[in-house]
Amino acid sequence: MSCDAAAERILGGRPPHLRDDGHPPIFEIVREDGTPWPLLDRPLQAAALTGRVTAAAVFGLRRPGQTRWIQVAARPLLTDPDVPPPYAAVATFTDVTADREQRRALVESEQRFRLLAEHGTDVVTRRALDGACLYCSPASLEVLGFAPEEALGVDLLEVLHPDDRPAASRLLGRLLETGEPQSLRHRAVHRDGRVLWVETVGRAVPGPDGALEVQTSTRDVTSRVEAERRLARLALADPLTGLANRAALLQRLEDLVEESVPAAVLFLDLDRFKIVNDSLGHSAGDDLLVTVARRLDELCGPDSLVARLGGDEFVLVVPDVEPSAALALADVVHEVLADPLHVGGHDLVVSASIGVVLARRGGEQPAEELLRDADVAMYRAKSRGRATTVVWDARFGAEATARLDTERDLRAGLERGELVVHYQPQVELASGRIVGVEALVRWQHPLRGLLAPGTFLGVADDSGLVVELGDQVLAAASAQVAAWRLLPGCEALALSVNVSAQELQRPERVARAAELLARSGLPPSAVTIEVLESVLLDAEGAVEASLAAYDRLGVRLALDDFGTGATSLLHLRQVPFDTVKVDQTFVGGLGASRRDEAIVRALQSLTQELGMRCVAEGVELERQRDWLAGQGIGLAQGFLLHRPLPAAAVHALLTGSPG
Ligand code: C2E
Ligand code: MG
Ligand code: MG
Repeated sequence: MSCDAAAERILGGRPPHLRDDGHPPIFEIVREDGTPWPLLDRPLQAAALTGRVTAAAVFGLRRPGQTRWIQVAARPLLTDPDVPPPYAAVATFTDVTADREQRRALVESEQRFRLLAEHGTDVVTRRALDGACLYCSPASLEVLGFAPEEALGVDLLEVLHPDDRPAASRLLGRLLETGEPQSLRHRAVHRDGRVLWVETVGRAVPGPDGALEVQTSTRDVTSRVEAERRLARLALADPLTGLANRAALLQRLEDLVEESVPAAVLFLDLDRFKIVNDSLGHSAGDDLLVTVARRLDELCGPDSLVARLGGDEFVLVVPDVEPSAALALADVVHEVLADPLHVGGHDLVVSASIGVVLARRGGEQPAEELLRDADVAMYRAKSRGRATTVVWDARFGAEATARLDTERDLRAGLERGELVVHYQPQVELASGRIVGVEALVRWQHPLRGLLAPGTFLGVADDSGLVVELGDQVLAAASAQVAAWRLLPGCEALALSVNVSAQELQRPERVARAAELLARSGLPPSAVTIEVLESVLLDAEGAVEASLAAYDRLGVRLALDDFGTGATSLLHLRQVPFDTVKVDQTFVGGLGASRRDEAIVRALQSLTQELGMRCVAEGVELERQRDWLAGQGIGLAQGFLLHRPLPAAAVHALLTGSPG
């Protein structure tokens, strides 16, 4: 019998039965189960004795401290039916020790894995790549409601929430691709129907039989997720109404834009909410907002979002909406709000101005911009009267945006005290004495410098900020004039202030004016409220009530810019005016135009007849002043006499010190 070099290397020497040197065998040949392997059972001998090819077998070469495992197969070299066995045979050996070591390690790790899996609170599974469950730990009963045996052979994707299955499939793909452990937070459905939040960590490993499989460990994190969501909600909710806040709204809009979902954005601003707040109090105002919030919320489907931006502004975001449907929705909102609501013991009917903007598929417009456009459209709606809807149009662009910016600035400016009062003296022409001052508001803008009222009063009026502005002007001017009246010769100095249409719409503002005057110490009789003629034209009952209330307070009333509006002499009869201010348009022609002179002469006799005073505005030239003086119109204002001046300059005029 012979043995080649490779066989000798594998076997670690010549097999004992091939040795004839009388040394004890250096290894023992054993079967897989460790028992000695009888010589005649071995493949080489079997092949020689039977003349047949033998199946491969594995045996161990046992040496002290180490066993190597060898696979052996044998075949006879030459068989001849006429020649009886034994034949010559040849055996081939393969060292399979490494393979078997690996198998054994796997079996051991499998045992360790089971030990952990069986006793943990996580659901541990092993599954084949086709998804079939090979093993499931007992925690499944507690966590998911089914016994581990029930899971065997089942595709475990089935216990996942249907919406999360695609993500789980992707996880599986990543596991196999990267060979790295992967984790996923997803929902699972308990057998009793509860939806749980779970976290699954998975990794791909070779199984006990060497084939690749996936091990997962899943843990219930529902309470943690819920706590996280509560926190997130707090950060994203408006505390008064529980609706989404601006941050949540922008997030949602961004998501829709990113996913290229067309959506309608409805920007609502309640009409005349300030009146409710001022007259019924803040808590009634809050109740009203909460009720409106609930109605809007009930109106919207689960995919929509209702947000409150603060104040009386609400925004609805409705995904997958056609333009016509967006308008229909706005109509429904108007209807829903028109239903009277019971707040603070009153039945109120509210309405809203609604601006609509459509986020189109693939529009990629930033969320902030969408919101701003909706806001601009809402402003347009506001200016068209109550309970109206306006859809945003590219033509609104720049001008409307500038208006919004001004409003924002003005609001901040009012808070920061950037509005100041200048005073234009009213002069008695005969003596040249200053008998009164007209308070004219200015805005000391941090970037744009000193602004005249023409640049911001429109915005102040539209936004209702003019009410706060009026308060500030009256407070400052009445205190100032009260102080000047302490100067010698100034005891009778009078104050004129302008009030806007908005302020006159709210008769309750008169009480506020009375309060401010009382605080300043200036008697109401020293104050004249100037009302634009145009305000009277579309005046409702509220304006007349305001004027009557001012009259009762003892404040005088002046009709400002007389002659510029479509004058109705009726107003002069109905409203207890004390003074009429002749507008600059007529004053301009005095001393030059016979027509203007005739008109002013007629006005003068009319006011005299009615027991009113006549004041000329906008006197810029000597000839105008001379004509007025000659005519007996004794009171005038104008650049010729004095420009509107800061308080310090007027103070210098009044005290005769060089200003
Ligand atoms: P108004 O009440 O008719 O005030 C007179 C305006 O004519 C002032 O313009 C004044 O600067 C200007 N003026 C005075 N003398 C002359 C002159 O000789 N020539 C010319 N060309 N102009 C003269 P201002 O200050 O720009 O105010 C414009 C309007 O803004 C005021 O008209 C008034 O209606 C309104 N306004 C001013 N302050 C207030 C305020 O505190 N509240 C409200 N609601 N309106 C105000
Ligand atoms: Mg005026
Ligand atoms: Mg005027």
